[in-house]
Amino acid sequence: MTYEPVIGLEVHVQMDTRSKAFCGCGTVFGMPANTQVCPVCMGLPGVLPVLNEKFLEYAIRTALALNCTVANYLKFDRKHYFYPDLPKNYQISQYDQPLAGHGRLNIEADAIKKTIRILRVHMEEDAGKLIHTAGGSLVDFNRCGMPLLEIVSEPDINSAAEAYAYLSQLKNILEYLEVSDCDMEKGSLRCDANISLRPAGQTALGIKTEVKNMNSFKGVRDALNYEIGRQEQVLRDGGAITQETRLWNEEQQKTFSMRSKEEAHDYRYFPEPDLVPFTISDETIAAAKQALPELPAVKKTRFMAEYKLSEYDASVISADKYLALYFENTVKQYHMPKIICNWLMGDVMNFINTNQVNIKKLDEVLPVKNLVAMVQLIDNNTISGKIAKEVLAAMLTGGKDAATIIKEKNLGQISDSEALEAIIDEVIREQQKVVEEVKTGKDKALMFLVGQVMQKTRGKANPQIVNTLIKKKLLGNA
Ligand SMILES: [Zn+2]
Repeated sequence: MTYEPVIGLEVHVQMDTRSKAFCGCGTVFGMPANTQVCPVCMGLPGVLPVLNEKFLEYAIRTALALNCTVANYLKFDRKHYFYPDLPKNYQISQYDQPLAGHGRLNIEADAIKKTIRILRVHMEEDAGKLIHTAGGSLVDFNRCGMPLLEIVSEPDINSAAEAYAYLSQLKNILEYLEVSDCDMEKGSLRCDANISLRPAGQTALGIKTEVKNMNSFKGVRDALNYEIGRQEQVLRDGGAITQETRLWNEEQQKTFSMRSKEEAHDYRYFPEPDLVPFTISDETIAAAKQALPELPAVKKTRFMAEYKLSEYDASVISADKYLALYFENTVKQYHMPKIICNWLMGDVMNFINTNQVNIKKLDEVLPVKNLVAMVQLIDNNTISGKIAKEVLAAMLTGGKDAATIIKEKNLGQISDSEALEAIIDEVIREQQKVVEEVKTGKDKALMFLVGQVMQKTRGKANPQIVNTLIKKKLLGNA
C-alpha cells in the first residue's frame, strides 16, 4: 500500500510596520530586552488598544495578492491562554470572521503545476519571547503586540517539495508587496505544518500531527520529509498516529512530541470588547487592488512575451523583485535579454549564493553599466566568453570595471594574425598526424587544432580567426 501525505501550512508573517499592531511601540529587531514596550502591549490595567492603520493596509494588500476575498466587516477576538511570554493572558486575534479567505496560490514542484487554496488570512498580535539561561528563564516583551498575519492553506499540499514551493512563492509575493522582510532566522516568517497520511485513493483524512520550530525553508522540507517517513513507519507497523504537536530538532534532524494538541475551544475565544468592529468599504478594497504592484506570476508571463525568455528562465528571473528589476535595467541598456539572463542566472547568482549577498544590493556589487560593458566586450570580440567568466569574477570581488580588469590582467583576445600565426605554426609542427586528417576534410581534427591554439594562448585567441587561419594554411581556403 502506498500512502499519500496531506499537508496544510500555517504561516505567520510579521508585517513590516514601524509601530506595533495596537500601540505606538517601535518594531526594530534586536533591541535590548523590554525597551520597546508600553502599558498597552504589557497588558497593564485600564489601557485601550488602537489598531495600526498601516497594519490593516498591509494585511489587505497581502490578502488581495493571494487572490482572497476581503471581508467588509473587521472584527477582532481574544484568544486566551496562559504563558509567561503573554502578559495579558490573551492574544488579540481573529476567530470566526477572518479578514479574508478563499484565496489561491499557484506553485510548481517537481515540474508539476498546482493551485493551493488559501483557507483564511487573519490579523493578530505576537507574544513575547522566553530566553532560557543557566540561571533561569527570562522574558522579553519587545515582541508582544508585533503585527502578524496568519495565512492558512487548505490541506492541498502533498509533498515536502510542494510545501517548499508554496513557501518560496509566498515569500516572493510578500517581498514584492514590501509588507515583510520575510526573514525566517529573525522570526518574521514562521511556518507550522499540519500533516497526516492516508492510503492513496482514500478521501477521508488520517490523524494529523502539527510540526513546529522550523526556522528555514530547508528546515521545513527536511522536517516534513522526516515526519512523512515517521508516520508511514508507524502505520506500516500497525500502529496509530497520535494527534499532537511535535517539535523539529534541526541538529538531530528529527521531530519530537511536545504536547497533545489543544482543540480550538480550549482558547475560550470571544469578541475583543476594546476594539469596535468596523466596515471596510468596497472602495477601500478596490483601491488597494488597484495599487497592487505587478506580481511574480504576471511578471513572468510578461518576460516570456516581451523578452522571449523560456518559461524556466522567466520564472527564475521574476521570482525575486530585485533580480527582476536589475535584469530589466540591464536589458534597457543592452537589448540582449537571453544573454543577460544567462549571465545573471549562472555566474552572478552563483556568486550571490556563495557569498550570501543581499540581492537588493546587487547593483552596488555589480553596477548595471559594468555588466553591460562586459557583454559588449564579448560581442565585439575583445574577450571570449570563457575569459569573460574570469573578468566577471574579478568584477564581482574587486568592484572594477571590465576594461580595467582586462588591461591589468592582460586578458584581451589575440586577434592579431601575425601573433596567432606563429602559434598556429607551432601547433602544426607538433600535430602532424592530426594535420593529415584535417587535409582529408575531418572537421573534428580541425577543431582539435583550434583547441590546441586556444590552450597555448590560455583562451585568449579569437577562435574564429584561428579557425580561418588554420584552414588557409592547410587547405588553402577559408
Ligand atoms: Zn506598546
